[in-house]
Amino acid sequence: MRLVVLGAAESGVGAAILARREGYDVFVSDMGTIKPRYKALLDSHSIPWEEGGHTPELLLSADEVVKSPGIPPTAPLVAQLIHQGTPILSEIEFAARYTDARMICITGSNGKTTTTSLIHHICRKAGMDVGLAGNIGHSLALQVAETPHANYVIELSSFQLDNMYDFRAHIAVLLNITPDHLDRYDYRMQGYVDSKMRITRNQQRGDTFVYWLGDDYIPAELPAHPSEALRCGFSDALTDGAAAYASADGLLVVTAPVHFEMPLSRLSLPGRHNLRNCMAAAIACLAAGVSPDVVRQGLSDFPGVEHRLEKAGDARGIHFVNDSKATNVDACYCALDSMTTPVVLIVGGKDKGNDYTQIMPLVRQKCRAIVYLGADNTKLHDNFDALSLPTADTHSMADCVKACLSLAHKGDTVLLSPCCASFDLFKNMEDRGEQFKALVRSLEAQEA
Ligand code: ADP
Repeated sequence: MRLVVLGAAESGVGAAILARREGYDVFVSDMGTIKPRYKALLDSHSIPWEEGGHTPELLLSADEVVKSPGIPPTAPLVAQLIHQGTPILSEIEFAARYTDARMICITGSNGKTTTTSLIHHICRKAGMDVGLAGNIGHSLALQVAETPHANYVIELSSFQLDNMYDFRAHIAVLLNITPDHLDRYDYRMQGYVDSKMRITRNQQRGDTFVYWLGDDYIPAELPAHPSEALRCGFSDALTDGAAAYASADGLLVVTAPVHFEMPLSRLSLPGRHNLRNCMAAAIACLAAGVSPDVVRQGLSDFPGVEHRLEKAGDARGIHFVNDSKATNVDACYCALDSMTTPVVLIVGGKDKGNDYTQIMPLVRQKCRAIVYLGADNTKLHDNFDALSLPTADTHSMADCVKACLSLAHKGDTVLLSPCCASFDLFKNMEDRGEQFKALVRSLEAQEA
């Protein structure tokens, strides 16, 4: 059997190594440059590879192809492979053939990484033999090949789901569906919805499907996806048939698969959107057999995920929160919504056609001041100056933090939740968040 792997990054290299171990004739091809550490890994397993382009005859002779989720099906050689009927799989689909592990899978438009990390945190606390895999950046195939686990918690993107066919998620979590990536789905929302619903494919009796009852799309899709899996919908408030909800007296209540309660005040993650992530994680972990006590502990001591409403530190009586991952207006909305003190908001960067009207009422209600941080702040002025809040115009993180210090009062929160991509001034959103945190740390050190 000849297996061709398209894309030599984390998932592709993992798939190639597993395929090699399983006796395939493997070849890896990448249009771009392969990172040195991946080249070294391929070489150490004697796997042939090419970079900087694809050689058609080496690809078209494949019996099967594992395609990196980032490569669209319209890429010329992929289209040719599809046309000639060559099966194209995702790395997750391929890896799952070689393990009997229990699969706990998480997808959604927003909240995947947070919920995946939270479920993994709780399962580890419970002493389970559990791997973390998928879109979160760790190859499932590599773990199956070299460090196998009895359980995996897997973050799945719609692009990964698109090339999954026989894969079965024993516990599937679908957090929400909002318009995203429509360019990959012919600008048809239903195409994207269908992709997300694939997480329920092949589920059987004894499996669990966890989903948000308040979503605009998911509940309406259920009749089109009949299954014997236990369906557990979670809801912001007590709702008919909800398997989890936040009660009026301040409890997170789970009614299925087992009864569970804990005070909302003990959840470590702030905000309404995170409450939903916590409910999803609680149901998933209880379905995986984790004891209620461990679920309670895990939900209350989860440290959060870097750059997502992350506590950056406290200096001069001011709290600093790093939400650099908030690269769209929706994410900033969630962040502001979760704030309990007056806020000095840092916004700006590479605008992707943002419509700021959605956050205006919250900015008016919660913000003491706004600090603009971008190469070009014109659009921010055009939108936010009308609120007549104090503002500052900055073009570097150092100036930005300085401006925040002069505008914030004791007890306020300085919130980096920029609504924009970071490429105008930073390498990426991680770099933006790191620079912010480093400056906060140095302020803390000055006080110590
Ligand atoms: P993803 O991996 O799906 O991109 P993350 O967990 O990295 O999701 O969170 C990205 C951003 O999405 C966060 O900064 C937060 O503002 C927002 N978010 C997180 N969970 C949810 C949710 N359940 N519903 C809506 N927005 C959310």
